[in-house]
Amino acid sequence: MDALARAEALTAYAAETADCVRCPLSETRTRVVFGAGDPDADLMIVGEAPGFQEDQGGTPFAGQAGEVLGRLLAGIGLQRDDVYVANVLKCRPPQNRDPLEFEIASCEPHLFRQVELVRPRVVVTLGNFATKLLSGRPSGITQVHGHEQEVALGATTVVLFPLYDPAAALYTPSMLQALEDDFSRLPALLGRASPPLSVPARAVEIEVTAPPVEDEAVAVGETIQLGLF
Ligand code: URA
Repeated sequence: MDALARAEALTAYAAETADCVRCPLSETRTRVVFGAGDPDADLMIVGEAPGFQEDQGGTPFAGQAGEVLGRLLAGIGLQRDDVYVANVLKCRPPQNRDPLEFEIASCEPHLFRQVELVRPRVVVTLGNFATKLLSGRPSGITQVHGHEQEVALGATTVVLFPLYDPAAALYTPSMLQALEDDFSRLPALLGRASPPLSVPARAVEIEVTAPPVEDEAVAVGETIQLGLF
């Protein structure tokens, strides 16, 4: 299938998935958060599950974790539109709780179809759930972050590159530093030269603001430093 046919098939699949009822999360979600970005991207990024803002707006990584992701991408000369972003779960778990095994199993065909249609060369998994699912191994993210491995995802062989989830790293400076360090290796994994820094190499402040009342997982009123490489 050429890139245009794959992009059309992805759009059709997103439309099919919009009223998915494969698991009970369909009863509590506002909308299915399918995925977004370049349907022919070399780099696919897979997070855990939609949170409050993603559930409202329908786009993955729309909140503060998404802001960190955007800055990390900018640091290697990429924009959100250059990559394809999706989650293990397409529907928000109530109160942002961890995904359950049967929810992951129910949703898995959607992610594998996305991989099959986007055909990325590198897949970044953010956090434990995406990493364990796509590596097929039980090792946790603390052990495997920054260690690339070749894996076959259906018919597509990719370089899997596990990283900390920016949603978790937001509140742990050492994790954020490790995430930045690991991220800086992506251009080499993509076979691209490292671009000159697109932002000044000084700490960038990210204001962590009070969350909407529904979004219990986010801490209030904290400012963290994001040093870009
Ligand atoms: N937002 C998402 O869409 N996924 C995550 O894993 C974290 C925040």
